Amino acid sequence: MTPVIARTREELASARAEITGTLALVPTMGALHEGHLSLIRRAGELADAVAVSIFVNPLQFGPHEDLDRYPRTFEADVAACAAEGVDLIWAPTVEEMYPAQPQVRLSAGRMGTVVEGASRPGHFDGVLTVVMKLFNQVRPDVAVFGAKDAQQLALIRRMVADLDVPVRIEAGPTVREADGLALSSRNRYLSPEERRTALALSRALRAGEQAAGEGPAAILHAARAVLAEAEQADPPLVPDYLELVDPATFEPVGESHAGEAVLVVAAKVGTTRLIDNVPLTLEPREK
Ligand code: AMP
Repeated sequence: MTPVIARTREELASARAEITGTLALVPTMGALHEGHLSLIRRAGELADAVAVSIFVNPLQFGPHEDLDRYPRTFEADVAACAAEGVDLIWAPTVEEMYPAQPQVRLSAGRMGTVVEGASRPGHFDGVLTVVMKLFNQVRPDVAVFGAKDAQQLALIRRMVADLDVPVRIEAGPTVREADGLALSSRNRYLSPEERRTALALSRALRAGEQAAGEGPAAILHAARAVLAEAEQADPPLVPDYLELVDPATFEPVGESHAGEAVLVVAAKVGTTRLIDNVPLTLEPREK
């Protein structure tokens, strides 16, 4: 069965009215890959019907970022959604989504200014604004996001809690290639040589993970060593940040931290910026 494709608010309203049971939404920017498909499958387990939104949101791109060259593969995305049994695709144009420049927007607050937010000012404000609009437009019971974008997930959970948004948030784990590279729509920009260098991100996270028993400083040291080596590679890795943070706040954890943490990394290879992370559980250590 092919999904209903809604391009306008009117088309969305009539398609939404046909859905009688519970609805799960998977927000995406398209260029769908196995990571997105894993969320769509999870959505199918959580609700009677599944909606996928496909919208490249200008509000979350900085002036010098890759909005114009962001991959757009709509026909293939529709085919992938059809194969997964998706009921509804919400794919508005920029004009449909933003008939005027939005004056009233959401602010991600402090968590929106640290780590990824420090490198991409305003990014998370743009993400939260569009996600809130998508929730209001589609009115899902549950929405599914990837742990790949850990800070985005934490902020959406926080938005839903702080603003009493009537949507349940569920997360799916990061889907990786066999060699560890986290799937991303941006991976298609990488040349084979750049892709080889890019493997240092997931390798660094694994090195950190293996040092988890030795505490935060050792975790960061082990991961940093992998990145430092990749900085000497050809083509080189250009690290942006590597941090061990509290998954709820994205503040760095202290050396005595025990419990959940997330090791987050961002780097550029050539002109492509990549992010990755791994969740860690730190056991209390003897002093
Ligand atoms: P995007 O299209 O990049 O905005 O991503 C849409 C959703 O897919 C977000 O919730 C992402 O976190 C999620 N996602 C992207 N890549 C992956 C991946 N490799 N594994 C799991 N989820 C992913």
